[in-house]
Amino acid sequence: SKKNSQEYINLENQHGAHNYHPLPVVLSKGEGVYVWDVSGKRYYDFLSAYSAVNQGHCHPRIVETLKQQAETLTLTSRAFYNDVLGPFEKYITEYFGFDKVLPMNTGAEAVETAIKICRKWGYEKKGVEENKGQIVVFDQNFHGRTTTIISFSSDPDAKRNFGPYTHGFIKVTYNDLDALKEVFEDNKNIVGVLVEPIQGEAGVMVPGESFLKNVAKICKEHNALFMADEIQTGIGRTGSLLAVCGNCTCSGHCEQQSTYIKPDLLILGKALSGGGYPVSAVLADNPIMEVITPGTHGSTFGGNPLGAKVAMTALEVIRDEKLTQNARKLGKIFRTRMEKLIEKTELICLVRGKGLLNAIVINDHPDSSTAWDICVALSENGLLAKPTHGNIIRFAPPLVMDEEQLHECCDIIEKTILNF
Ligand code: PLP
Repeated sequence: SKKNSQEYINLENQHGAHNYHPLPVVLSKGEGVYVWDVSGKRYYDFLSAYSAVNQGHCHPRIVETLKQQAETLTLTSRAFYNDVLGPFEKYITEYFGFDKVLPMNTGAEAVETAIKICRKWGYEKKGVEENKGQIVVFDQNFHGRTTTIISFSSDPDAKRNFGPYTHGFIKVTYNDLDALKEVFEDNKNIVGVLVEPIQGEAGVMVPGESFLKNVAKICKEHNALFMADEIQTGIGRTGSLLAVCGNCTCSGHCEQQSTYIKPDLLILGKALSGGGYPVSAVLADNPIMEVITPGTHGSTFGGNPLGAKVAMTALEVIRDEKLTQNARKLGKIFRTRMEKLIEKTELICLVRGKGLLNAIVINDHPDSSTAWDICVALSENGLLAKPTHGNIIRFAPPLVMDEEQLHECCDIIEKTILNF
């Protein structure tokens, strides 16, 4: 017989490490913008697995690709060639406009990979003395959970008692160009800057209009690599293919776009596979990627044919269904609706975001449970979202949503907030 929700929750509590604090909802099915719990209740998903299912849950084309490749060849390791990796590498490099790709599995691995490439480039190309290279990161960043990455985290929970930490990172205030310029002064050892174009986990912090452009410019002036972590912001989420594309809405790479700020290292994950399978990647041009030579980096699963095939289909779906353009259109409607709601309630003080990566700020102390309680109430009304950083609620539905569904969701949010 089918277990009820509490029994599944109990199983996780009893047998799983308690490294998450989930909402008390047990899901068993997903399709497009919807998920269903074990009792059959339907919800709109406004988290999209932290922006991994931009293409919607169980997208039929992605599922079909997964099934077909699963029955054909799943893993060879990179000890041998396979007949999917090459076509995938050609596809993704043309899609994003880079010479080369290095495929990995998870986001954190791709960030680690970028850090390694950047450091090696610093010693072999820039001529920094070995072990002296430094990478600039930003306060309140989130780039993953590995030991090196948490070494430059601002979050005490992510960091405490996981030391000793990895050296070689300088942290500056996000969106503060003067602070960035200052660290470059008299420091010839900086090999790169690692930046989230919008800080997702920090609460959807959108930097000023010219911030990224200037980060790239400062990097160029000082011969340091501009590394964009687009794991959460990339692949249509913010209403452009990449957040570094600025206001361009085209569904692929175009050299003409005047707002495009090309990163030296582009880091992708999450929606690269549409949630069907973990796939991440680092993209760069030859002068940078050539520091990676046989034996210097690798992964048993990285570049496996199953992930590679799934990722190609996931990227095709973004383009074919014009999800980038849809995210841009719906994002505007969402923020307009939320701004109207702010006029009717004291409970929300701000809405911010780009495309379909948005957040509302709850008008209460960051340590209060209000945002959590609102999320519980939202789930009871059929919409799933999660607080980030105490009093902020992120709203990031799959990009396959239509306008009518979005209005229905805004109605749910409005009703929940006004009755809270
Ligand atoms: N970088 C950013 C910007 C992220 O948002 C995330 C995940 O939330 C990561 C890196 C880490 O990705 P993963 O959880 O797949 O390791």
